[in-house]
Amino acid sequence: MKTIIKPILRLTFLLLVVTPILAWFIVKPVRIIAPELVGLTCYDNQICIDIESEDFNLELAQQLRADAQQFLSEKVSSFTKTPKIIYCSTWQCAKKFGLGDRSAITLGTFGSAISPRAWQDYYIRHELIHQLQAQNMGIIKCLLSPTWLIEGMAYELSEDPRQPLKQPWENHRLKFRKWLNSSNLNKI
Ligand SMILES: [Zn+2]
Repeated sequence: MKTIIKPILRLTFLLLVVTPILAWFIVKPVRIIAPELVGLTCYDNQICIDIESEDFNLELAQQLRADAQQFLSEKVSSFTKTPKIIYCSTWQCAKKFGLGDRSAITLGTFGSAISPRAWQDYYIRHELIHQLQAQNMGIIKCLLSPTWLIEGMAYELSEDPRQPLKQPWENHRLKFRKWLNSSNLNKI
């Protein structure tokens, strides 16, 4: 009995203690779950900002999310809870969430982190579409779905104005558009 319990305890310790700690340090987007722990300020309304920065604009942050939510509730789907957005106004802040070359990143329904160059309506809509995908399809289904579906949907339904997008994103968008047109879906 003793020999069985020990490995189980070790495995439990690994899963419950070691893995989350490693994930926190290695997989930076995991920090989206608790941005306060890396020095950001989060408000009750699920908006987090790097408040020490002189450039942050809380009013703009709130407006961008409100506009995106309105747009998406009319064209895609509504949120069951207020979507969290972490707005970085410095690259120092963006780095904390692993935003190297990426403009923004979303971690399931936990939230999105926005880099200084992504304070744009279509970027916010894009990331909130990823949150809606996680909300409506589930994280596992999202992870198992092809990139053209997940990213193509986000680029197409966010009405990203860039024509054409850099590859492979343009091809993903075109493939999704073709699929949507042939599938009689008005609302995803
Ligand atoms: Zn995306």
